[in-house]
Amino acid sequence: MVSQLSQAALRDQRSQFHPFTAITDLMAEGPTVMESGSGIHVRDVDGREYIDGMAGLWCVNLGYGRREITEAIARQSERLSFFHTFNGMSSDVVAECAEALLQRAPVPMSRVFFGASGSDANETQLKLVWYYNNLRGKPEKKKIIARWNAYHGSGVATASLTGLPGMHTLFDLPKGPILHVSAPYYYRKAPEGMTERAFSQQLAQELEDLIEREGADTIAAFFAEAVMGAGGLIPPPEGYFEAICPILKKHDILLVADEVVSGFGRLGTYWGSQTYGYEPDLITSAKGVTSGYFPMSVCYISPKVWDVIESEAGKAGLFGHGYTYSAHPVGAAAALAALKLIDDLKVVDNVADVGPYMLQAMRDRLGQHPHVGDIRGKGLMLGIELVHDRGTKEALPMANRTGRQVLKAAANRGLITRALGDTLVFAPPLVITRADADAIVDRFGAAVEDVLPG
Ligand code: PMP
Repeated sequence: MVSQLSQAALRDQRSQFHPFTAITDLMAEGPTVMESGSGIHVRDVDGREYIDGMAGLWCVNLGYGRREITEAIARQSERLSFFHTFNGMSSDVVAECAEALLQRAPVPMSRVFFGASGSDANETQLKLVWYYNNLRGKPEKKKIIARWNAYHGSGVATASLTGLPGMHTLFDLPKGPILHVSAPYYYRKAPEGMTERAFSQQLAQELEDLIEREGADTIAAFFAEAVMGAGGLIPPPEGYFEAICPILKKHDILLVADEVVSGFGRLGTYWGSQTYGYEPDLITSAKGVTSGYFPMSVCYISPKVWDVIESEAGKAGLFGHGYTYSAHPVGAAAALAALKLIDDLKVVDNVADVGPYMLQAMRDRLGQHPHVGDIRGKGLMLGIELVHDRGTKEALPMANRTGRQVLKAAANRGLITRALGDTLVFAPPLVITRADADAIVDRFGAAVEDVLPG
């Protein structure tokens, strides 16, 4: 009811154009307006407290109100609030941060390039891939392969990479030389009775067929998240990367690992590529690098790509790319504090413990519910797909918007989740305890039963 909205909600509703928000819902119901946060909890302007089961947008990995980070930000803001990195400029804190990031890479990396968001970082990666192939005399090798259900960002090129038709249709996307292959969505896309390994082989074959059809010398790179996030919380089936990677190598196609969500511990290893055992040529990261305290993204560049850039770039002249806020010193200070906390708090070990515990607890609580089709996840990424019929996997009627109803029921019980259609997802702060995981599962189980009484 609009009449019951707080002042803040009314102000927001009348003035802000929200990203990824249904305007009719916002006008009918008003926004939920947060005011403060501490640990894994946030509080709204009406005084309701929630467990943030999504760590903001998969980013507040260390929880809210971390003094180590806020103080680092305050100190750096006073010391040097901004300096840029164009034309060979830098700042001491940025140099220290770049080195600390390289030390934490999953495979030897030569350089990091900074930005302010996952989208701008993937834009950088695309341009780097094209730049690299131009420099090494392969100007025809430019097409990019991504996957349906992938999420790689919201810019013109990155929304094109993203494999979600809802982000394409009304914006006349995709643009550019971008191809999509099937999502590794075992629950929905594997033929009945097929093993995960066989499904991985099928997907690898599809990829190889596409490469051969298009011509390997026209294909530059393959982009992939370790676990698909915003496209439905989809962990790869067993053997997926094992099957894909040799094909990319054989055809001289760069693997760009989008670790915007999976980087910095979310899957129970420092990097998602370590969970699944593959070696990226380029890595995109953001979010967890500052735990969401400051907008920052990081592109890692491997020796294979860097060596070409370093040896050829002199001939090409200036590297004509960058953002005002590339390598922001305040962001670098936030990142250094966050990286230290990830180490000091043994966050990755915590995820390796609490992640599987929470997945099992969710399965114990909801695994037999007649409208729960699939409970899947890795580390602290968890998805619960609701269906009309468990046996046939028939979806719930779209018009019911059941996912959204469950999201609201969870909010009423003091829990924030996210509805990707009828798949409800969790990516809580990486510092949650087993008891916190139990609280999430309890509240969520009750919310599902509020909406779907079984
Ligand atoms: N890549 C992945 C895997 C993401 O999940 C996201 C955002 N959720 C992005 C890229 C884009 O990041 P941003 O919203 O910071 O532009």
